[in-house]
Amino acid sequence: MIVVLKPNISKKDEAAVLKEIKKLGYKPHVMRGVERTVVGAIGDERKNHTLETLTTFSQVETVMPVQKRYKLVSREAHKSNSRITVQGHEIGGKKVQIMAGPCSVESEKQLMTTAHAVKAAGATILRGGAFKPRTSPYEFQGLGEKGLKLLAKARKETGLGIITELLSEQQAEMVAEYSDILQIGARNAQNFQLLIAAAKTGRPVLLKRGLSMKIEEWLLAGEYILANENPNLMFCERGIRTFETYTRNTLDLSTIPIIKKESHCPIVIDPSQGAGRADLVAAMCKGALAMGADALLIEVHPNPAEALSDGAQQLTLEGFAKLMGELQPFIAAAGRE
Ligand code: PEP
Ligand code: MN
Repeated sequence: MIVVLKPNISKKDEAAVLKEIKKLGYKPHVMRGVERTVVGAIGDERKNHTLETLTTFSQVETVMPVQKRYKLVSREAHKSNSRITVQGHEIGGKKVQIMAGPCSVESEKQLMTTAHAVKAAGATILRGGAFKPRTSPYEFQGLGEKGLKLLAKARKETGLGIITELLSEQQAEMVAEYSDILQIGARNAQNFQLLIAAAKTGRPVLLKRGLSMKIEEWLLAGEYILANENPNLMFCERGIRTFETYTRNTLDLSTIPIIKKESHCPIVIDPSQGAGRADLVAAMCKGALAMGADALLIEVHPNPAEALSDGAQQLTLEGFAKLMGELQPFIAAAGRE
């Protein structure tokens, strides 16, 4: 940490600040300038007590951290890209993985029809919510365990990997039993007990960005997964809340190069929640691929007009197959497969 002292402070006041820095576990290194004195507080900011309390001293002007608050998710901790293998498919490697399926699992027919169609079009992982985090308690809440069983059946029939959301710590073991990737939804992105429970199942975790989450907070939420001995974390950008009303959320594609720079974990883009509009999904996917996304998470439904959740943003089976063809040149241009 760098501690900037107020100009012209007395020797006595300076000594009081240095004493406090030592008390907090840091070694002070005093740098005297022409007008003011700056103190470098040497020590690991992630292990020691934060020095922010020093701002309560009237002699201190500012305290600036020099280290990042996250550690295990950082590029510094792991120089090469982390790769996560799900049902034989690698996320974070050369091949861009496509995760596709309905917003919610609604029935056996709906899920199986979608699973076979997305597989035929080239998807490798099937998505579908069995536990749905709905804004209104009166909206469809998901089929629960019955939905998980249908997902497991679809995996058996198609060989697709399964990604599905869990809403509570109590569901962690059950959801892990039926699926290959645990999805932590935007509304739970800072539910730290849930993150710990998900990490402890040992299953790969896809962590969505919270509705109003800063990138640093998102990285720190991811740190909970790795700090609980689960190295298989992927970040998923799904749009953030802004003032814009033409889209449901504002899909922040700048997170792709930022996550790639700051972290070794794969980055997945969800253009469906991201825009909330089926007509924008293709353009968002192309942009995401050009920017280096490792995977896409796309909502697909046999009949979006009758979907029990997120109808406006789901692609039809035909729409998805067409999109997959359109994406190929973008995947190739990005040097991926
Ligand atoms: C979803 O994937 O259907 C979903 C609810 O996502 P999010 O948590 O990003 O809103
Ligand atoms: Mn959805």
